[in-house]
Amino acid sequence: MDKVLIEQTITAISVVGNLLLGYIVLVRDKKSATNILFFIFALISALSSIANYFSLHSASEASTLFWIRMVMFFASYLAVAFYLFVDTFPKQKLSISHFWLYIVVSLGIINSIIAISPLLFSSVSVSYANIQPSPGLGMAFYMPTFIILLVGGLYLLIRNYKREQGDLKNQLKLLLWGLALTFIFIVLINVIFVNIFKVSSLQFLAGLFTLIYVSFTAYAILKYRLFNIKIILTEAAVVIINVVLTVQIITANTIVEGLLRFLFEILVFYGSYLLVKSVLREIKFRQELQQMAEQLAHANAHLKELDKMKTEFVSLASHELLTPVSAIEGYLSMMLDEHLAKVDDPKAVHYMDRVYNSAKRLARLVTDMLNVSRIEEGRLLVEKREVSLTGLIQQVIDEIKFKAEEKKQKIKFDSTNHWITWGDPDKIKEVLINLIGNSIKYSKNPGEIDVSIEIVPTQQVQETWNGIESSIKAGPLDDQEAIKSAVDERLKRLVGEKQILIHVKDQGIGIPKEELPRLFKKFHRVGDYTTAESQGTGLGLYISRALVELHHGRIWADSEGSGKGSTFTFSLPQVNVQKDIIDLEKQVPKTKEALKPLARPTKEAEEL
Ligand code: ADP
Repeated sequence: MDKVLIEQTITAISVVGNLLLGYIVLVRDKKSATNILFFIFALISALSSIANYFSLHSASEASTLFWIRMVMFFASYLAVAFYLFVDTFPKQKLSISHFWLYIVVSLGIINSIIAISPLLFSSVSVSYANIQPSPGLGMAFYMPTFIILLVGGLYLLIRNYKREQGDLKNQLKLLLWGLALTFIFIVLINVIFVNIFKVSSLQFLAGLFTLIYVSFTAYAILKYRLFNIKIILTEAAVVIINVVLTVQIITANTIVEGLLRFLFEILVFYGSYLLVKSVLREIKFRQELQQMAEQLAHANAHLKELDKMKTEFVSLASHELLTPVSAIEGYLSMMLDEHLAKVDDPKAVHYMDRVYNSAKRLARLVTDMLNVSRIEEGRLLVEKREVSLTGLIQQVIDEIKFKAEEKKQKIKFDSTNHWITWGDPDKIKEVLINLIGNSIKYSKNPGEIDVSIEIVPTQQVQETWNGIESSIKAGPLDDQEAIKSAVDERLKRLVGEKQILIHVKDQGIGIPKEELPRLFKKFHRVGDYTTAESQGTGLGLYISRALVELHHGRIWADSEGSGKGSTFTFSLPQVNVQKDIIDLEKQVPKTKEALKPLARPTKEAEEL
């Protein structure tokens, strides 16, 4: 290809590229001022590429002068379009006031008139492809105005970039990048090559450089509205290939060559048609996908809102319910106490006893729900300190012993060693009450409950937990709630090289293997709870898990199956890592709402 053909091709790319991008942006949204201004900018840019080409390839000095003037003519409007575009981007309507709009447009018109008059360039001399226009007086007005518009636009761009955030900031960044690259290339050509290396024949590339800016800008406008750069590039490439091929047919030397090229073009054209069709199909598909994604995001936000309302409602309702329920329970207990009140009818006593049991259950449910909402809203007050686990377990066993005796269970615990952890004694006690209480509750025959403590490497706990987590993840979606943490992930992190493991082993009814992954879900109870002998809420283990996680621990259950007893195990950190724990917890954002202690059931309800 000779030099002229290269220059023609480059000009064609610049013209077609500008027009195509301008068109694509315009059809996206014909009413948007941003898109219209962009289209105008790209159109002027294409026209100035043509003028630029002819200014370099004119036969006479007179026509060279004419085309140079035309370049300057278009440049004056290019500056206006640039300023207005930057000022408007990405709004639907012009934001500039009428007064300033008139001023800016008038400056453009005045400049364009100066450009085509002898005031800007009075004459031009061409020697050895070196074009030397002689500037006139008009330059003193033209240049400053031109620069003011460009610099003003740049100032607006930088100012907005600094001010904005998110997607808009990224869009503005693209605009700035496009501008910077175009500027660098133009300086490179005009200053370095032309002045230092004395190569002026690269001037024809100028059109291509504005295309850089136009491309970046088009991308910035379209990117955040589902459009994909790949689609734009495909379309642009298709058009350019076809234009080049058409030029080649016209410039063929012989008829045969022309005919062959024509046949080739038909093939390429058909291929292009198929390509564009598939691209259009993709656009449609993407549009639908985008719409669906937006709808989904909307629905999701709505659900989150509802979820928050639900938690707030549960929290409020539980709080309000607790007082009357406690009162009912308290008075019923007094009425059933023969020393305090006398009820003669044994039937009435029987009924009251049932009402009393239900009231106790209700009180337990309400306190559990209150605790769940406190944990989930991050409003649970956790005050950690050095805690003797041995002492705590012994305390719980002493408190709960009478219940165990009722069900003929013997609780075994070796309290010779002193194990110390860093935690909130109240919360750890709640976990122990839940686990030992369950062991008693879910044991039918006389048996033994074994509470033991050991120290194991953190690695071992981590591996056990990883195994549990991956098997739950591979299971039904519904079960995954059992590993979805109710607390911040950072609070869950295991700390230190070793962990204290607490096992609560019973010889009770056991748990079927398939139920093990579901135990720690909210409200989950094994079997049909309406017919279950033991009453409960299905919240105990969920709350225990959250409390253990608040202590950087893990909790899980093991059982050989129905009738074969169960072992519940949870881990706690050793006291020597307290500094690490404090540091880690400092990173977790605190909720602004008032923190509350764990709600306690009334003494009677605790007996369940
Ligand atoms: P609740 O005891 O109030 O029903 P939990 O969350 O404490 O709720 O326990 C959930 C379920 O796990 C229980 O309903 C029971 O089916 C089962 N479970 C808990 N602990 C044991 C245990 N030690 N032995 C057998 N099953 C148990």
